[in-house]
Amino acid sequence: MAKYIFVVGGVLSSLGKGIATASIGLLLKSMGYKVVLQKFDPYLNVDPGTMSPFQHGEIFVTDDGAETDLDLGHYERFTDVSLTRHSSSSAGQVYETVIQNERRGVYQGKTVQVIPHITDEIKHRIRALEADYDIIITEIGGTVGDIESLPFLEAVRQLRLDLGYKNTLYIMLTYVPYIKSAGELKTKPSQHSAYKLREIGIQPEILLCRSEKPFGKEIYDKIALFTNVPRENVINAIDVKSVYECPITFKNANLHKLICQHFEIECRPLNLRSWNKFLTNSQDCVDKVTIAICGKYVRHQDAYKSVEEALVHSAAWHRLKLQIKWIDSEQNFKFALLNRSLQDVDGILIPGGFGVRGIEGKIAIAEYARTHKIPYFGICLGMQVAVIEFARHICHLKDANSTEFDPKTPHPVIHLMEEQQYVEMVGGTMRLGAYSCKLKRGTLARKAYGKVLISERHRHRYEFNNAYREKLESKGLTFSGFSPDGLLVEIIELPAHPFYIGVQFHPEFKSRPNKPHPLFREFISAAYQYHQSHSTPV
Ligand code: GLN
Repeated sequence: MAKYIFVVGGVLSSLGKGIATASIGLLLKSMGYKVVLQKFDPYLNVDPGTMSPFQHGEIFVTDDGAETDLDLGHYERFTDVSLTRHSSSSAGQVYETVIQNERRGVYQGKTVQVIPHITDEIKHRIRALEADYDIIITEIGGTVGDIESLPFLEAVRQLRLDLGYKNTLYIMLTYVPYIKSAGELKTKPSQHSAYKLREIGIQPEILLCRSEKPFGKEIYDKIALFTNVPRENVINAIDVKSVYECPITFKNANLHKLICQHFEIECRPLNLRSWNKFLTNSQDCVDKVTIAICGKYVRHQDAYKSVEEALVHSAAWHRLKLQIKWIDSEQNFKFALLNRSLQDVDGILIPGGFGVRGIEGKIAIAEYARTHKIPYFGICLGMQVAVIEFARHICHLKDANSTEFDPKTPHPVIHLMEEQQYVEMVGGTMRLGAYSCKLKRGTLARKAYGKVLISERHRHRYEFNNAYREKLESKGLTFSGFSPDGLLVEIIELPAHPFYIGVQFHPEFKSRPNKPHPLFREFISAAYQYHQSHSTPV
């Protein structure tokens, strides 16, 4: 029978509940258990796909095309398990299902209510994965005490009655603030979160307490006493430099042993060899590399999370310290400003994006990378702006554009995909999820991947317009990856440049700390070569 861990949060948000959940997943997986993670978000959007990245950060995409919360990215990076739409639910989805059931007459005349109908639907979703896994780890979004989280907490309370004490475990992440003026760590917020959770019938078995400073004995004792949690089950999750160190903090506090004891399952030896190797490489750097990420959401620290992490993985692989320079593409990019912003960078990355704001800045940046021979990596929109730039400045196609930004452009080098022409709804209707791509022999892409057929995840509505294929090719642009039927251009590159590549998909979703994505790996390698050739010897 599958075992269930429920991770809930107290005190406030942004404590790293997603990272804590992912870390627990890694520890259990590295003992050889089959583990899957899932996230429930209490908002009423059906999925985060329609939200601005300023709201909840990046939209993570699964192989099966679900647009999900960015915590799924942490789960995949830590556990290296490819998740599906069963790992992501929102209150909006839950309510949508229940209301559709009601319209279809499923409830046979009964009054439809939060308890039991909404809670039953939540429980059904939590249990949807149990046939295939040993341990299911479910993170409940939001903070204990939020009105909108209540049905989710009620559902996980009921699951203990359904499944039994030995098969369910509640872990709460809280915060123990350090009050400078008093020179003390304060436990009261954690106490109150535990009261609040008990009020709805859940007694957490394990507490993970975030703090800036390490606990002394009296803090452990006080938290244990007031939260009714055994002293050895109170874990101090002290701040770490990199999120990838969290599993090690938890391992050192014996979290994996506590979990196994509770479930009465074997506590097997942990195999963290490749994880530790990644940590050593990222701490033991031989040099540094500076990458510019140019986008319009650079003010939100999580808007390009997977891109940032993919760069971190590849930099560690090369034993380089990564420096990211965030460039706001909405600035008015005159040449002098570009020169100032980009002169000290070793590589330029333009990630995905939507809408016309900041587009001309991105085009100018792609041109700067091309003409200055700085390694360039364009992802989705980043590929599209590279095509527009090439069409305008090399093929002299005046005002070439994507019809997303200029529907009347005389040269629509990027246009709406056939399947998107009649789409009216915005939610969940893009080209989403994993598609195969065939790589052309002798190209940068083929060399990086080392194989012909790859699979990558997509999230876009526009594509390269094949009417311009010949023209751009004749001027030196290489089309190096296509959909297997040859119809969709998936990768472009410039052979006359040391490293200039654009991909229509999102490779960042598949990078792992100990398995960096081949394109990111090669990009960092090219950036480092650029760095070496441009740094002045001392
Ligand atoms: N806005 C572009 C499109 O829909 C690019 C999308 C993206 O970068 N994810 O095609």
